[in-house]
Amino acid sequence: MFKGKKLFLIFILSLNIVTSYNPDKMPTVFRTNKKEVALTLDDGPTYLYTENILDILKKYNVKASFFLIGNRMREHPEMVKRIYLEGHDIGNHTYNHLRLDRFEPNKIEEEIIETNKMYINILGFLPKYFRPPGGRFNNIVYNTIKENKLFSVGWSINTGDFLYINQEVNEEYIQRRVARIISLLEKTLKPGSIILMHNGSLISVQALPEVIKYIQSQGYTFVKLSEVEEFLL
Ligand SMILES: [Zn+2]
Repeated sequence: MFKGKKLFLIFILSLNIVTSYNPDKMPTVFRTNKKEVALTLDDGPTYLYTENILDILKKYNVKASFFLIGNRMREHPEMVKRIYLEGHDIGNHTYNHLRLDRFEPNKIEEEIIETNKMYINILGFLPKYFRPPGGRFNNIVYNTIKENKLFSVGWSINTGDFLYINQEVNEEYIQRRVARIISLLEKTLKPGSIILMHNGSLISVQALPEVIKYIQSQGYTFVKLSEVEEFLL
């Protein structure tokens, strides 16, 4: 029994060494005594979906927080401006959407700094928030974002609103995925939840109004990350 436990511990420790993955340093929820949640929208701006997403947020009067990819910001600076001007929060989601825990410190720094440069070029100021692609995090990432005065934010509810490659997409399939997202929210939504969605697919665009309507129907309001007083791990 004891030996089994010891082996298990060694296994866990070796996993930790291999991936250097330390999710403990990234907050995933926030403290609140009100029925509030934060909606985060990653991987924009995209040519096909970001405008639609902004239109939906405007229609339902919801403010969200966008984690933008540097090379997409370069392609669509006008969308970055629109996101900001419509009152949403914005954050750094690296330049090439790389899983940072696989890279050397200088590459990690480059991914973060190049995206910050995009913010300076397009909006004239630096973002405050950072989210590592795939949530992949290690001590080097942590130190680099700290040096660059960024604050990392994870999520507690991953809606899984993306499409896998080679997925057959028709209306029925999309509706099934949307229903699955709502059922996930029914089970997991609570005050202080941080919800992860994306700018990347038709599922996001079709799910977003349903997600907002469901959350509002439960008496919740949406806050931006900058309105949060205290994040929790
Ligand atoms: Zn992402």
